Amino acid sequence: MVGSARFERATSASQTQNHTKLDHDPSKSSKSPNLSLTDNDFKGTLRNTELLQVDDYIKAGRIAAEVRERAREKNWVGKTVFEICEEVESEIKKRGAKCAFPVNASINEIAAHYTAEPNDPIIIQDSDLVKIDLGAQINGYIADTAVTVCYDVQYDNLVQAAEEALSNAMAMVKVGVKASDVGRTIESTIKQMGCKPIANLSGHSLEQYTIHAGKSIPNIWSIGGFALSENTAYACEPFVTTDKGGGFVRNGQVKNIFALNSRKKTKDEEANRLLDFIWENFNMLPFALRWIVNEWDEKKARELLEYLVKKKAVQAYPVLVEINEQRVAQAEHTFIPNENGAVITTQASINST
Ligand code: MN
Ligand code: MN
Repeated sequence: MVGSARFERATSASQTQNHTKLDHDPSKSSKSPNLSLTDNDFKGTLRNTELLQVDDYIKAGRIAAEVRERAREKNWVGKTVFEICEEVESEIKKRGAKCAFPVNASINEIAAHYTAEPNDPIIIQDSDLVKIDLGAQINGYIADTAVTVCYDVQYDNLVQAAEEALSNAMAMVKVGVKASDVGRTIESTIKQMGCKPIANLSGHSLEQYTIHAGKSIPNIWSIGGFALSENTAYACEPFVTTDKGGGFVRNGQVKNIFALNSRKKTKDEEANRLLDFIWENFNMLPFALRWIVNEWDEKKARELLEYLVKKKAVQAYPVLVEINEQRVAQAEHTFIPNENGAVITTQASINST
């Protein structure tokens, strides 16, 4: 998933702000602590905990990469978005990870945040360009990765520009590199290929059970910014549109991805049961209506969700649409910087299928 802007319509970069919509304040959540030490702990334990985290990041990354490569190779024409999302999610679970968020299958000018409704009938056409963005997690440690599939050669350069920008970014990341310089590389790669970057979508730091942990990796050059640090996982995700595109996204009408905001009880017993179900199954991570319709029938589930959104216990994320309704391509990796470069946890391995 992606860090995105909260604005209606932008006319220039100076008027926009990068917001990470899926942010939440970790201090407000009661997620399980990861590096909290008790008096009985000693240095070796901290070290082991860190190693275990890296291990989980790598396991999640290997699974996400395998599933992504399988999605890249498959011809999805004639399939529904429901089939894409369900199949990709089942491939993640089959390999022993949990989904970190509902698989996004965003078509054409929808840049991100579309996931299938229960039995969603939209069918992939051979002229479509589909961003498949998937997340795997092990013990809350997340691998976030995406591929664009496209069956119309007319748009191959968009896909290539996203891949090329990502690969140039991955070649330069290491501890101390400024995120704004990564943004500059992404922007110039995309422009050299005659395309436009989406300026108000960005990559992000990751933490346990948190997709957007507060730091943004921009897709354009920007003033200031932070330097990449050791033992932190980041997602980098260039989004590319055509030269006719505005190079920004706006919020669309559809909202079909949700996440817990607060566990505070409401006056409705059944809604409280849903709150508990969400917390137990998805923690603070995003979820879809598809994921709760086994417990509540679809109509009831919609009502309860709507109520919880109104009570601000749950937030709903709108789809993000290119402002000129031009097509958008995306590529994404998760990486952990070190002194020499980075471990790209979602790198495709030679043996991955
Ligand atoms: Mn992401
Ligand atoms: Mn993603």
